[in-house]
Formats: sequence, structure tokens, C-alpha cells
Amino acid sequence: MMTIVDNDKCDECGTCVSVCPANALVIGAGLTVSPKECTSCGICARVCPFGALSVRQ
Ligand code: SF4
Ligand code: SF4
Repeated sequence: MMTIVDNDKCDECGTCVSVCPANALVIGAGLTVSPKECTSCGICARVCPFGALSVRQ
């Protein structure tokens, strides 16, 4: 599994960054997910107000 960000939907609000227990999310030029850190827990996808994050099989 991996977590995917759709940067067309993301407005860089930072909500997902603050809740990620693995510190896998970074806002720079758009939001990036570090596959090495991400555990695919799905928390970020549940809190994003814009539906920009999804966990894929
Ligand atoms: S799925 Fe979990 S570990 Fe991965 S980026 Fe989202 S909150 Fe962080
Ligand atoms: S919560 Fe959603 S809109 Fe906010 S920074 Fe994360 S992906 Fe972007």
C-alpha cells in the first residue's frame, strides 16, 4: 500500500502534516509523502478537508 497526494486538490493547509504519526508528510512545493516513513495508516486521508489524500493498495 502507499499513500498518494493529489496536489491539484491540496491547498497546503497543513492538517495532515500535524496528525501524521510517522512524520511522513512535508509541505514544500506542494505536499509530498515519504514512502520510507509512511505506514499507510490512513489518518491523513481521513482528516484532509479536500480529499487530496488516498491510500492505495
Ligand atoms: S497514511 Fe499515515 S503514516 Fe502515511 S502519511 Fe498518512 S498519516 Fe502519515
Ligand atoms: S490536509 Fe489535505 S489540503 Fe491540507 S495539506 Fe494535507 S493534503 Fe493538503
